[in-house]
Amino acid sequence: MNNRWSRQNTEFDRHHIWHPYDSMVDPFPAYPVTEAHGVRLHLADGRVLIDGMASWWSAIHGYNHPKLNQAVTQQISRMAHVMFGGLSHMPSVDLCKRLVEITPAGLDKVFLSDSGSVSVEVALKMAIQYWQARGYSEKFRFLSLCGGYHGDTFGAMSVCDPVKGMHHLFKGILPPQFFAPIPKSRFGEDWDPMDCAEIAQILEQHHEEIAAVILEPVVQGAGGMRFYHPAYVRTIRELCDQYNVLLIADEIATGFGRTGKLFACEYAGISPDILCLGKALTGGYMTLAATLTRTEIAESICSSEYVGCLMHGPTFMANPLACSVAVASIDLLLANDWQQDIKRIEDQLKQELLPCKSIESVQDVRVLGGIGVVELKEPVDLRRVSEFFVGAGIWLRPFGKLVYMMPPYVINTEDLSHLTSTVVHVLASTGSEPD
Ligand code: PMP
Repeated sequence: MNNRWSRQNTEFDRHHIWHPYDSMVDPFPAYPVTEAHGVRLHLADGRVLIDGMASWWSAIHGYNHPKLNQAVTQQISRMAHVMFGGLSHMPSVDLCKRLVEITPAGLDKVFLSDSGSVSVEVALKMAIQYWQARGYSEKFRFLSLCGGYHGDTFGAMSVCDPVKGMHHLFKGILPPQFFAPIPKSRFGEDWDPMDCAEIAQILEQHHEEIAAVILEPVVQGAGGMRFYHPAYVRTIRELCDQYNVLLIADEIATGFGRTGKLFACEYAGISPDILCLGKALTGGYMTLAATLTRTEIAESICSSEYVGCLMHGPTFMANPLACSVAVASIDLLLANDWQQDIKRIEDQLKQELLPCKSIESVQDVRVLGGIGVVELKEPVDLRRVSEFFVGAGIWLRPFGKLVYMMPPYVINTEDLSHLTSTVVHVLASTGSEPD
């Protein structure tokens, strides 16, 4: 394939290829990338950018990693893919063994699927089928948190934030769900038990209709980049047990060390009934996701008195290339001192971003693990800010009022400083507008 980028390619891209959440009439500029190595993205025009996004939380080891490349090339010489119905392979076994081992206790049945959103659909189906199998077919609604984000497919959209999500666009099509307020107690600050008052009330009143609570433990990602108190998650675990409701933890963004724990549930010291993983699962190489659950749930769903199986089976389920690279990524993560990397990034982000608090246009600055967030008072002008960032040699993709970064764990001090100082410079120069 010719990797040379021409003006015609830009024109073709603009006129024929849809980009995420973008217009096909007046799209944002899409900067062509020809190569990526370590924490650097190489643009077609020769510019090189330090990556602060890890390709939306996924490329935790950086790009073009020799160990991950090797895993893919070794596997591709054996087989790229075979159907998973009636067949199995070593990459899936190797991966699922590791997932059962490293995830919170009790999650020992794994369903592999294509993407984060699909793993959420699978989780919702698991919960519904579990209650059907146990004779509670009226338990099919979900209780979610305002400010949450769980993906773009229909079931997932239905449990995203009811105001900022896509509910208004798909009104009447999305199944109605229950929503609790955004948790107020922040991570690292005092815990106010009243935070759970409203969600407790919803559970008390509606537990007979609710199959599961779904939440992103400790970090609400794409719905607002908020870090909330682990005691909230612990309390929800207790309430779920009390009211016979399952708990689904969506760790698609938080999984694999990003928050400073391998899984954010560890901050709360709990195991969910169902866990969704994706993004960093393959170190950002390929699309793959997993939904894990407890034996009792799997056995109920699969009992012969009921339908006997989980009703899902994607064509590319357990793709061997994706499983192989996921195994290599997990092994690499565990072999590296990732806690030390995250601590180093966290300390530096705190030191270099927290001073932004004094800038007039800044509402709040927060840092947790390898995530740094500067929340502005007004939404950023994405086009202008992106242009400025690219001109300054960094890659960040703000959304709404949020300028945030979650770089690959291998980023060094100097490169991270370049990211933070560029952000500080932009914000300090003219509010959210670059000069
Ligand atoms: N859940 C969470 C918490 C996410 O951050 C995302 C992706 N931003 C998803 C689900 C959906 O994952 P995907 O984009 O792979 O479908």
